[in-house]
Amino acid sequence: MCLAAIMSRLLIVANRLPISVSRVDGDLHVERSPGGLATGLSGPHSKSDALWIGWPGDVQDLTAEETASLERRLDELRATPVWIPPDDMKEFYEGFSNGALWPLFHHLLDQMPLHVHGWEAYERANRLFADEVCRQYNDGDLIWVHDYQLMLLPEMLRDRIPDARIGFFLHIPFPASEIFRTIAHREKLLQGVLGADLVGFHTAGYMRSFSSSLLRVLGISSNVDRVYHDQREVRLGVFPMGVDTEKFARLGDSPAVRARAAELRGMDDCAIMLGIDRLDYTKGIRRRLLAYEKFLYDHPELHGRVRLTQVAVPSRTSVEAYQDFRNEVDASIGRINGAFGTPEWAPIYYLYRGIDEVELCALYRAADVLLVTPVRDGMNLVAKEFVASRTDDGGVLVLSEFAGAASELAEAVMMNPFDVDRASQVFYRALTLPADERLERMRALRRRVLSYDVHHWVRLYLESLEGDTARTDHAVPATTLVEKLAELSGVMRAADDLLLILGYDGTLVPFASAPNLSKPDQALLDLLLRLAARDHTEIHLVSGSSRDVIEQRFGGIPIHLHAEYGFWEKPDGAATWEGGQVPVQEWRDQVLQILENFTARTPGSLIEEKTISVAWHYRMAEPEFAAFQANELTLHLSQLLSNEPVEIVTDDKLIEVRQTGVNKGIVVPRLLAQSPKGAVVVAMGDDRNDEELFDALGSEGITIHVGGGTSNADVRLPNIEAARRLLASLLD
Ligand code: UDP
Repeated sequence: MCLAAIMSRLLIVANRLPISVSRVDGDLHVERSPGGLATGLSGPHSKSDALWIGWPGDVQDLTAEETASLERRLDELRATPVWIPPDDMKEFYEGFSNGALWPLFHHLLDQMPLHVHGWEAYERANRLFADEVCRQYNDGDLIWVHDYQLMLLPEMLRDRIPDARIGFFLHIPFPASEIFRTIAHREKLLQGVLGADLVGFHTAGYMRSFSSSLLRVLGISSNVDRVYHDQREVRLGVFPMGVDTEKFARLGDSPAVRARAAELRGMDDCAIMLGIDRLDYTKGIRRRLLAYEKFLYDHPELHGRVRLTQVAVPSRTSVEAYQDFRNEVDASIGRINGAFGTPEWAPIYYLYRGIDEVELCALYRAADVLLVTPVRDGMNLVAKEFVASRTDDGGVLVLSEFAGAASELAEAVMMNPFDVDRASQVFYRALTLPADERLERMRALRRRVLSYDVHHWVRLYLESLEGDTARTDHAVPATTLVEKLAELSGVMRAADDLLLILGYDGTLVPFASAPNLSKPDQALLDLLLRLAARDHTEIHLVSGSSRDVIEQRFGGIPIHLHAEYGFWEKPDGAATWEGGQVPVQEWRDQVLQILENFTARTPGSLIEEKTISVAWHYRMAEPEFAAFQANELTLHLSQLLSNEPVEIVTDDKLIEVRQTGVNKGIVVPRLLAQSPKGAVVVAMGDDRNDEELFDALGSEGITIHVGGGTSNADVRLPNIEAARRLLASLLD
């Protein structure tokens, strides 16, 4: 599919507009500000009536007239401003986004403030974006949300426009789950992103870390590139961002750049090592300087023959960590120049400012070695721009293993920025690389960078988002769901007699970490009490838990209780539990011994003993290791118990050895026999045990599945809240 075939209108949503607004001599100036994203999206932005929605910049004290005129000018450029109050902007952008998410996502916990501020402003800002997107949205539009400032936005949009096609791309790394889980509001951040249909990352590593966080923080497993959440399929994908290779090649070949590059090279006989970075603590500038210092110390023969030109573009200057960082960089450079410099030669030329494109490209063309040595970086476009501008096949790229670009640019000279001693050796090696190897590496790098430019990146992402047809497999469109629920509630309310058969864990309450911890909250108890008092309504709670647990939870509520999948029954008003004959279980001791062994070797797991079964729960254990252990245990038990009258039932974070023939289906004949003729029977559940109940009920009742996963139920409800809402609707 080519870009022209992408017919939907595109709404690009990013924190900043690709336009900068400034006040010069009292007048407002609106200029396009070309960044990597703006360049890449310029094609789709100029086509198909696309809109770019974002913050217009810090333009304060606008009169009403100026605001109206600015909005008109932005409108002509197909840009829609999101006005965020300055105080909120500070907290949202500098506080939570750049003060907390930025260092954390780059694994720099030491840069995190002790007390993270700005969450409320972050939520409010995301909501303002959601308001604007909803105002602009027309049916069929594609919405593409960008980056860590807007992680809550996909879910906010999903809630308000359930059928919209929403993409999310993270431009920075996604951290290892061990680090991600340290952030406050981690659940909301992940859930926010899961509102999208397609979540894109620069590298497979970031995608893996995201999946791992989903599993550990939300307990949601993903199937490599697919996640089922809230009855929807969310796809994950790897889309490494490229640069505008054509522009950099053109610039690199231009007379202005060539002349300037020759001038820079002709100043003296020094080889040029080059660093170009935003002045950001993720870029590894301090360790780079230390490595360079060591290099100078180890190679006195190169004094006066090599120079590091370091461009540091001022960035986030109002964030405290950046002010401290700048002072540290200044001090390191002062120390090195002071120690090694001579009246004729300074080992470092330091530019603390942004430079224009011609100067940037001339530096790329003049450099012998480009040092890209971040401690962690989402992608690093400077590395790719350098390669794209070297139409002369010259220059050597030294690249940190911790830049996203490293997963693509295998022919760079790789380095570990944390190993300063080795880094200084790598600098020497890069500078003295044999000419044929230098050429070979750069040619290979150029092939890679040229074949996957920024336009390609945009195209692949949008094709993937637009071509996303799988998501409806599991989804009930929200509108249909609402209609179905209203209809269902109507049928239940109109019934002369109503028989409700309800599951508990996962149906009416979320799973707790251990089976004895899943207590009903007061709202649920009130709901059940009121339902029990409803005329001609009989409620049967059917659970897999033991009699003791069920008694403790619901003993005081006038409903019928069924424990251990219906093996035990306590009708409303009865004093004791009734049940079948518990058979002799010759298998029990041996099974317990095995389970104890596995429990000892799987920290966090536990054994639950019931009368007709023994269960091994591993919800609290390390998820991947426990899944492996569960697999082993199942194999072991199936061999051991092949001739015993038991079934091995595996369920959500649970393996149970259970007396054959006991399952929730056994309650159905009993209940149907007792219920008034013509009663409407409704069964509600969430897992495999409930499927047996549904099967047994067949067409004699209405079956409702709660949550994700496969089911043969007549109706699906997305979650526990929806299940409770349906029950509450009977009381209106
Ligand atoms: N850049 C710039 N002004 C400068 C020097 C560089 O705008 O004075 C650009 C550079 O061309 C590149 C971007 O800044 O496109 C830096 O992107 P990168 O991915 O390397 O790092 P980021 O700043 O996004 O962390």
